[in-house]
Amino acid sequence: MVLLVMAACSGTGKSTLAKRLLAARPKLKLSCSHTTRAPRPGEVTGREYHFTDRAAFEAMVAREAFAEWAEYAGHLYGTSHAEIEAAAASERDLLFDVDVVGAFALKRTYPRATSVFILPPRFEALEARLRGRGTETEAAIARRLGAAQRELECASEFDYLVVNETVETGAAELMTVYDAATYARSERAPLLDLLRRVARGAQP
Ligand code: ADP
Ligand code: 5GP
Repeated sequence: MVLLVMAACSGTGKSTLAKRLLAARPKLKLSCSHTTRAPRPGEVTGREYHFTDRAAFEAMVAREAFAEWAEYAGHLYGTSHAEIEAAAASERDLLFDVDVVGAFALKRTYPRATSVFILPPRFEALEARLRGRGTETEAAIARRLGAAQRELECASEFDYLVVNETVETGAAELMTVYDAATYARSERAPLLDLLRRVARGAQP
């Protein structure tokens, strides 16, 4: 099971690239996080996120329902154990769209996960894209740009750096990373074990 962990500064275009990747690779499913943030126009609970109030989120933290959770720009976000178990049971690969704290937590829990940080081609593109999306207040844009410096400091710890220059080139780079992860040693272990067992049995 491929676990692809994706992070980026807000406004880079991570959700846009994730949608492209998911449309092109049906075995891959987006891990649906819980959040206390309000839905943006067009977002549906159970698809982009499980939208939850703060009390319900905190109750889940208390009963250790999260594999990881973090506070980002004043809202809580978390990946439930149930989400990962359901994907494993249905033999799907899982794409995590998380902040850098979540990415490191997932990598600690699942060392075989592949982590990818999406870079904007220029710093100014972040502000322009956040504004262009038109979903954030001025205060939220400032908070998200403030977080970008800290996030870029962490980017060198990711396995891969993808550049979202155009949606086409960014999506192509992200697809290459996912495809490479499907050929990782850990993914091919069952076949290799079977081949070795048969080879041993075939010894005269
Ligand atoms: P994130 O999930 O990283 O916060 P989004 O995917 O919501 O970012 O993208 C932020 C805005 O930038 C959106 O309006 C999106 O259409 C736009 N965008 C995404 N990728 C590109 C790109 N390569 N070039 C120009 N604009 C982009
Ligand atoms: P947004 O509000 O733009 O959807 O997300 C804000 C940030 O929270 C993004 O960097 C997103 O990747 C991150 N995020 C979303 N879900 C989770 C999660 O389950 N855990 C963590 N740690 N971060 C998340």
